[in-house]
Amino acid sequence: MQEIAFKLLVCLLKTCDCDVPAKERTCWKLTNPDRRFWNCNNSLTRLRKCDYFEWKDVALEDGYYKNLIYSMKQQLYSKEDLGVIKNLRTKNVELEFLLSKDKSLVASMEKGMYVSKKSIRMYKLLVVVLDIGYVCIVFNLAN
Ligand SMILES: [Zn+2]
Repeated sequence: MQEIAFKLLVCLLKTCDCDVPAKERTCWKLTNPDRRFWNCNNSLTRLRKCDYFEWKDVALEDGYYKNLIYSMKQQLYSKEDLGVIKNLRTKNVELEFLLSKDKSLVASMEKGMYVSKKSIRMYKLLVVVLDIGYVCIVFNLAN
């Protein structure tokens, strides 16, 4: 029973020589806006070269409705682009804020490092002075 159902399904599905069910896609070109077609499922992968193609829908007549569908899709694309740009701007503001926080942190760490280096130089000088004093004391005691 399952085998028969599977064979029926294969017959209903469009297939090409690749033996994979064809992919239903939609054309959005000016010549065929919103017109569905089948082509090879591998056509976008570049793994196999297969030029299977078949229209599913009949062509729209040239004129008002064909142009309307095309222009509405173009408007939708431009709105989607604006949405993406708005999201990227928001992300950019967030990243600039995080960067400014990191910059102030780096600046305070550099200041701390400068103070530490200054202290280390003072301690080194103190050690040298103490060494000289020790040598002088030992030299005086020896004489
Ligand atoms: Zn194919």
